[in-house]
Amino acid sequence: MPMVVLQWLEGHHLLTVFLSLLCLNAVAVMSFLHFRGSYFLKGRLFPLLAIISAVYSTSINGHIGVYWAYPITTVLFFLLPMREALTSNVIFLLLMAGVAFITFPEANAWRISFSLILTCLFAMVFARLVGKIQRELVRLATTDPLTGCLNRSQLADLLNNQIQLRERYERVSSLVLIDLDFFKAINDQWGHLAGDKILKEMVARIRERLRETDQLFRIGGEEFMILLPETRLKDAEHLANQLLLTIRSKPFFSDILVTASFSVAEVCRGETWSVWLNRADQALYEAKTKGRNRVEIAPKSPSMAPMDSGHLPTPTTR
Ligand code: GH3
Ligand code: MG
Ligand code: MG
Repeated sequence: MPMVVLQWLEGHHLLTVFLSLLCLNAVAVMSFLHFRGSYFLKGRLFPLLAIISAVYSTSINGHIGVYWAYPITTVLFFLLPMREALTSNVIFLLLMAGVAFITFPEANAWRISFSLILTCLFAMVFARLVGKIQRELVRLATTDPLTGCLNRSQLADLLNNQIQLRERYERVSSLVLIDLDFFKAINDQWGHLAGDKILKEMVARIRERLRETDQLFRIGGEEFMILLPETRLKDAEHLANQLLLTIRSKPFFSDILVTASFSVAEVCRGETWSVWLNRADQALYEAKTKGRNRVEIAPKSPSMAPMDSGHLPTPTTR
């Protein structure tokens, strides 16, 4: 803001316009973030205006404009995706070098160009490292270290996504719960380490049969959940039976026989993710009480009317 006034007083009216747009854009970005939770024009306007302002300011103000080029070349890597940041920086550095050679003595122009290139390279390396660490942290926070399955942290969000698809586009998904039978006894007989290996091997067997879009969660010690997008109850049941077969038909480490209990539930209109999961849980309990080593289907819940419509839930037929 002070720069806007300063440049206006110095008679640089075009630069005043660019700097004013920068300020207005900052206000717009903050307001959109605060009120809508989104980036105004995806945050693209700031790099564009910053580049134009720095290049133009250097051409009319000399070295005073160059000072701004260093933070801009750095910040581009933190505001834009890597590829776009790199392209914008190449364009920015070429423009700055061009202006530097026109405006300053040749030796100074070389100094400005090389110091800008170095700043750009350091910022790029730093941004890549930060990105890598961030991805690793997300992986550690969202996956189970023993099996590599997703943990519970994203469960609610991912189930909710499927509920939204059901409500808005009538796209139906299902979930499968798996609980290994008498796993405590297996641990007691073969040791905890063998138990861990069985869990890993079982996950590998399950993964072999899943699609890329299916998501496998470890929701408890020996309890797993598979989220099957775009999958009707019948297909989910078929998959659950196949998975049960892959677990029980081949002994683990040549002599440990393992079975599992399964439940399958298709998402119903109007239910929340916890109701959906709870239905599957009830069915899993049924599978256990009916003797384990089987697949149980969760009965559909009565569909619920929207909360504010004042209607009573209407029961659906199977
Ligand atoms: P049920 O058929 O009723 O499910 O019997 P269960 O023994 O499988 O169930 P229970 O809940 O009584 O015991 C679960 C066992 O799973 C207890 C625990 O030792 C074992 N377990 C949980 N997490 C792990 C793990 O990370 N590694 C190993 N090896 N065992 C685990
Ligand atoms: Mg169990
Ligand atoms: Mg259990």
